[in-house]
Amino acid sequence: MKTAIFPGSFDPFTLGHLDVLNSALLVFDKVIIAVGYNSTKNGFFSQQARVEMIKDATADMENVEVVCYNGMTIDLCRKMKVNFIIRGLRTTTDFELESVIAQANKQMNEKILTVFIPASSEYSFISSTVVRDVLVNGGNAKKFLPKEIDIDKYLKERE
Ligand code: ADP
Repeated sequence: MKTAIFPGSFDPFTLGHLDVLNSALLVFDKVIIAVGYNSTKNGFFSQQARVEMIKDATADMENVEVVCYNGMTIDLCRKMKVNFIIRGLRTTTDFELESVIAQANKQMNEKILTVFIPASSEYSFISSTVVRDVLVNGGNAKKFLPKEIDIDKYLKERE
């Protein structure tokens, strides 16, 4: 069974992330979505809320697991015995940043292979940052989010 880890902040999980996940499932038998915790960054949504939103969005999908983690992705890979990391690419800037991280990860563990998945044109402009900006300003971000996510419920939980 070929399994990959799809790590990220997912603050929140968007249609762009869902698109990458669907593409990854064409190649891998199972994808573990790993919600990172960054101690230097205060998340907009709590790590637990982010995990729950992804579970809402992927409830009908087989072979998707959602976990949260602290620390380095390669340590999670070792712990879960997974050698493939999925990352989505929207722009050349994404590629430049991500290729350096992929090379560093491979230096630290030569078994690790990062698999890049290009953004689909209809979702490539979507980012969690844009969604957060829309939400903070009271706008409607629903068209950027999987329909299963009741974002109003999670916004209320933040109050
Ligand atoms: P991180 O803080 O680790 O970059 P993100 O939640 O912002 O976490 O992104 C997780 C992954 O999803 C990254 O590889 C990012 O490039 C990718 N991604 C985010 N939005 C999109 C999108 N619209 N299309 C394709 N990939 C995306």
